Amino acid sequence: MIIVVRSQATSEERARLIEVLGRISGSLRPITMTRLSNREVITVESSLLDTLALNELRRQAAVEDIVQLQTPYKLVSRAFQDAGTVITVGDARECDPVTIGAGAPVVIAGPCAVESREQLLSTAHAVKAAGAQVLRGGAFKPRTSPYQFQGLGLEGLELLAEARAQTGLPIITEVMEPAMVETVARFADILQIGTRNMQNFPLLLAVGRLGLPVLLKRGLASTIEEWLLAAEYIVAAGNPRVILCERGVRSFDPQTRNMLDLACIPLLHQLTHLPVIVDPSHATGRRDLVHPMSRAGIAAGAAGLILEVHPDPGAALCDGKQSITPQELRTIVRETQLMAQLMNGAFLAAQVA
Ligand code: PEP
Ligand code: MN
Repeated sequence: MIIVVRSQATSEERARLIEVLGRISGSLRPITMTRLSNREVITVESSLLDTLALNELRRQAAVEDIVQLQTPYKLVSRAFQDAGTVITVGDARECDPVTIGAGAPVVIAGPCAVESREQLLSTAHAVKAAGAQVLRGGAFKPRTSPYQFQGLGLEGLELLAEARAQTGLPIITEVMEPAMVETVARFADILQIGTRNMQNFPLLLAVGRLGLPVLLKRGLASTIEEWLLAAEYIVAAGNPRVILCERGVRSFDPQTRNMLDLACIPLLHQLTHLPVIVDPSHATGRRDLVHPMSRAGIAAGAAGLILEVHPDPGAALCDGKQSITPQELRTIVRETQLMAQLMNGAFLAAQVA
């Protein structure tokens, strides 16, 4: 249940509402109060509330509206907010802001990991020239083996900031632990939460307390409901700027790195108002499948793509097998724009018919 608080409610009226809520919901159920950009909401699991209790709540002067939801996730639900969330990234810094979820698909591209100044800057300029709008690059890498390249850390963040200054591209980079959130946020325009951390709840709360956009990747073997509940943690902590990223889930077949679940895109459009993008690089683990799966992601209605690009994929320190070249990126960007026009046209034609 979501209680929307009347914006003119006095502090006495609010205090009374909290008191009533505490009494009728019991001490073991958390009551979450969230200030979203335009309204204050209180979220509480209401399955055990009886009609009498609900009526008492409705009578409270501080209550503007009560939205009853059947799903365990609340604030991210389409039933709570019908309009799709549109997220502008890079608006707080010296770069070209980009809007995600507004209709035109956005292409995010760059190396898996920041490896060196030369590698990052040359890739960043190539990404820009290819028409992508956001630069990706990992400075802190969550590697499966402790003996693999772990990223350049702080130096990598500084190089990303330099690449942004040179190209005007907003940057996205991964944050792996709560203690590093503020540091990474000083550099990034979007904070990426990787698949291995989708249920790192202290990390979700830490990025939720900041206002910076967050890209939340789907967990390695997470259900859609678990994924939406992870997003709910971030939004309930006060940050509504969450972008979901489908990057494939574990499967039985080793021919591809993961199994790209494209059905989740139209399904998520029904369940949530948050924008969803697709990562065909990690979903397939194969350079030759990135282009067709980019096409498929856009056709399924994704708000954008995130792609790994390397000037010399064979020499990449991380995820070279799935990295495309800047030339391939250019083709995908151009095709994405054409597909968006086509789909937009088809949509308009369907409305007229
Ligand atoms: C990445 O984006 O390089 C990455 C590590 O992705 P994921 O968390 O999806 O594996
Ligand atoms: Mn990678």
